[in-house]
Amino acid sequence: MRFISTRAKGENYFSASEAILKGLAPDGGLFIPERIPAIPKTFTLTKGAWYAMYQALIPYFEGDELENDLEEICYSAFSFPVPFHTEGGKDTLELYFGPTAAFKDFGARFLAFSMEKLLKRRNEELTILVATSGDTGGAVASAFHGRENLFVKVLFPEGRVAERQRMQLTGWDGNVTSYEVEGSFDDCQRMVKEAFMDESLHGLSSANSINLGRLLPQMAYYVYAASMYELRYGEAPVFVIPSGNVGNATGAYWAKAMGAPIKRIVLAANANKPITDYLETGNYEPRASIKTLANAMDVGAPSNIERLFAMFPDIESFRENVSAYSVSDDEIKATIKEVYDESGYVICPHTACGERVRRDHVTESHSVVVSTAHPAKFNDIVEPLIGREIAIPKNLFEIMHKTPRALYIAADYHNLF
Ligand SMILES: *Cc1c(COP(=O)(O)O)cnc(C)c1O
Repeated sequence: MRFISTRAKGENYFSASEAILKGLAPDGGLFIPERIPAIPKTFTLTKGAWYAMYQALIPYFEGDELENDLEEICYSAFSFPVPFHTEGGKDTLELYFGPTAAFKDFGARFLAFSMEKLLKRRNEELTILVATSGDTGGAVASAFHGRENLFVKVLFPEGRVAERQRMQLTGWDGNVTSYEVEGSFDDCQRMVKEAFMDESLHGLSSANSINLGRLLPQMAYYVYAASMYELRYGEAPVFVIPSGNVGNATGAYWAKAMGAPIKRIVLAANANKPITDYLETGNYEPRASIKTLANAMDVGAPSNIERLFAMFPDIESFRENVSAYSVSDDEIKATIKEVYDESGYVICPHTACGERVRRDHVTESHSVVVSTAHPAKFNDIVEPLIGREIAIPKNLFEIMHKTPRALYIAADYHNLF
């Protein structure tokens, strides 16, 4: 199996391992499979979610140096359940049982275990730099904590991350160091960029959501979930996916192209709507982001859009395959309340975008809303709407009761080394 760049198609080929270690293609494009493979004939649901996901990943690692490690990596990385929640005959796929209670745990953990294998074999070390304003840093820190030959430096802006997010960023020791930066998120990002450009520094890398190692697991859980759904109901479902950088949704498109039983894919955005506008006007215009209640989706220039354009290059094929709707903050609040009043089920603001879109735009009787995070992560938004406290799930509880450690530094990247 070979990978190519979204930009220079068919000229340079990379293995999955090379793509994982590089992150970005040398020409600045994103890595995509040369051809999307079919689900292997050996695929089975009888050995658990992690094993089904492993089966879905096998073709991407055919002939790769990680080929014989893949089963062990999947067993270690996907060590938590991937359940459906059924309410009033409608299903929600809960992707939030990983250590930081959001779907990013799947990708971050797969990437960390894969990089560890590759680096140990090469006898090399890497330091991952992450600038974060919230969720990503926690998922990356948790995934890389304790992984050999890897170090993580997490940078977050002083006083600008929510208390529970802060705990997820600072509860680490050993190979993970957290820096509270005297400055804004933009300062943190600038420091990381400057460190990457400093030629006296070696062995620096990132764990961005565009890394192939984060995207592939997101394909794998759709192959698993769609097959589970079909087994249970005898029908292929529509997936409604709360989206920002569209990495999660790209995973679903790859799963569908592999032959997973998926009727169609619908993106649910917040007020940031470059894709909805593209579908309407035919002009793709990336823009600055707007702050919303579903803040992990506050993206005006989706980083994975090149991968969708590689699959659906013109507006006609894009319209044939992609539907997207935008949900306002008022609708997010109303939907969290509506769902809770109906059934007592509590959803996060991102999942609420998905549920609103299902209720307003999906006519098929078989649909799955993808729940991207546990509502307890967004208790300050959700609790006033439902009028009660949300019990903290075990995974979040564990992370919130670690000893916080952060180095307070001025906004100069030299302070990181
Ligand atoms: C990252 C994230 C999203 C958006 O996912 P993309 O892959 O960027 O589209 C949605 N919800 C939550 C909770 C997230 O953390």
